[in-house]
Amino acid sequence: MATAVGIMGGTFDPVHLGHLVAAEEARLRFELDRVIFVPNGNPPHKPEYVVSPAEHRYAMVVLATASNPHFEASRLEIDRDGPSYTVDTMRFFRAELGEAARLYFITGADAMLEALTWRQPEEIARLCEFIAVARPGYDLDRLAGALGPALYARVRVLGIPAVEVSSTDLRRRAAEGEALRYLVPPPVAEYIRANRLYAEGNGGD
Ligand code: ATP
Ligand code: MG
Repeated sequence: MATAVGIMGGTFDPVHLGHLVAAEEARLRFELDRVIFVPNGNPPHKPEYVVSPAEHRYAMVVLATASNPHFEASRLEIDRDGPSYTVDTMRFFRAELGEAARLYFITGADAMLEALTWRQPEEIARLCEFIAVARPGYDLDRLAGALGPALYARVRVLGIPAVEVSSTDLRRRAAEGEALRYLVPPPVAEYIRANRLYAEGNGGD
């Protein structure tokens, strides 16, 4: 059977259980051989706060994915100069995997709802299908209307156990010295502490 690969893009500042549950549920439901986590280099959509250095975000993704033999971390976007565009990333993986491969871009409902703001969404939809996973607070029922019929036809909607956690909340928690336990894998919590990411109290246990 042709290989099947899911690409999980994100800022991952830090990676958390919401990302991991989404990736694993997508893997099981769509019988993916691999899920590749691709941390953004210089994210075009995050001007509102200072993103942690790419090497820290990548290191946390490596730690978070190490225990799952189907998960991988990719340096593709962080090694690229300038902003990262999903269309370029999917072009890369399509070229690498060949036309026969099933290729998916896995996103949460919030990101999927913004797909029309991405560079060349029709081209992305030609290169791969989307797996849109449920995320608390975002209404997947709005997707069809928000994306229009052509793009929506390439979206596979996936219900997953709700994990109401965001990197924004984790950065705040770390800064205020609140626990990160059970919201990020233990080695990620340890990495955040050891490197004093997100400053101040920096996440007790
Ligand atoms: P931030 O708060 O900094 O935006 P985030 O938690 O949204 O961080 P991102 O790195 O922005 O994490 O997200 C990467 C991808 O993972 C996006 O497609 C996003 O929709 C998805 N995602 C993030 N958190 C969850 C969650 N709790 N459940 C399902 N999908 C999620
Ligand atoms: Mg986000």
